[in-house]
Amino acid sequence: MGNKLSYCERRCQICTVSFRVKRVPTPEEEDAWHARDAAALQALQRNDGAGYDGSVISTEEMKGINTLRCLLQKPADFVPEEGDEDFERDSSCFLTDFAVHQGPYIYDSGTFNTVRHGVSEAKITNDNGNFGGEWGMPFHPACFEIFKRVCLRKLGFVDIDGLWRVRDLRGLFEYSMGCGFPPLSVRQYAFDDEKWHHKPGTEYLAANPVDIPGFQELLNHLSDSEDTSKEPNHQAPSPGAPSHSQSHSALTTSGTDIFSTLPPELLTEILWSLSARDIANLRLASRSFRTLPPILFKHLIRTEMPYFWEIDGLDPRGTDWADLYKMLQHNWSSGLLGLRNRVRIWHEAEKIVEMIQETNHGLTH
Ligand SMILES: [Zn+2]
Repeated sequence: MGNKLSYCERRCQICTVSFRVKRVPTPEEEDAWHARDAAALQALQRNDGAGYDGSVISTEEMKGINTLRCLLQKPADFVPEEGDEDFERDSSCFLTDFAVHQGPYIYDSGTFNTVRHGVSEAKITNDNGNFGGEWGMPFHPACFEIFKRVCLRKLGFVDIDGLWRVRDLRGLFEYSMGCGFPPLSVRQYAFDDEKWHHKPGTEYLAANPVDIPGFQELLNHLSDSEDTSKEPNHQAPSPGAPSHSQSHSALTTSGTDIFSTLPPELLTEILWSLSARDIANLRLASRSFRTLPPILFKHLIRTEMPYFWEIDGLDPRGTDWADLYKMLQHNWSSGLLGLRNRVRIWHEAEKIVEMIQETNHGLTH
């Protein structure tokens, strides 16, 4: 009995989006291409369902959607090479270089940019059926970067053997349908039939989650060190904080705020141990927390939005962390497509790493 996935377009094993997602050019782009190359235009003719609307997602935003790299099992005669990643040395798998997956056969990776460990091309599959042991496991290079970050955060090392093991355990079609792998966020597009559905409104699924046009400029704008009004000790309001009229004194005795007797250092210590929601509640209860140190918002971004790793490169004194916190909260879902996809993939990678942890503890069978 065949495995249905064997006949589907190959998908990224981490984000589950097909490598063959396409984009329909805008009329303006078509005009420009027509002037240059009529044959190229013919190949990109508008056709319902042929791709995402180019006026919604740009070529730059989709950069890398057709690019993959693979994990392969090391052969018995495997020899380490210069350029191997640390996490490859002690693993039973190794990485290929990048390839553009656009050939006629869905099971051909395409030619890798460079030959690594003698591999210039590979057969690829998402399931563990008849081929899993020898064929490559494909993923977007950007998604693998996110997987690495989640691994380091959760496990302390990059567990590519764990990723392979999870695919072996969950790669069967029956498992996929019942156990949340691939994730619900894209399952309906991947499984309705063999091809990707370019459903309007899902363009963000194809946006590069690492190289996001406009994101660094946005961060730079908010960390403009020329703005002298952004002093590090400037007191900023908390998002979701109550207005003064909403404040009450649940934690007061005889009209006295019990926190008002504590030294500022201790108040700061308390804030550092709380979530944004707890801080908002605390501010409802005590006027001692009416104003918050801006650097607290950097801490909150780090702990509650770890997928915005670019903040570590910002000027700590020249950045308005409160503004940045609010911007990131709003922008990841409603602004840049790549940010929305990054958050989605980060959470999917977290689920994969949780499965790896379960298999490490022998909990999955
Ligand atoms: Zn991916």
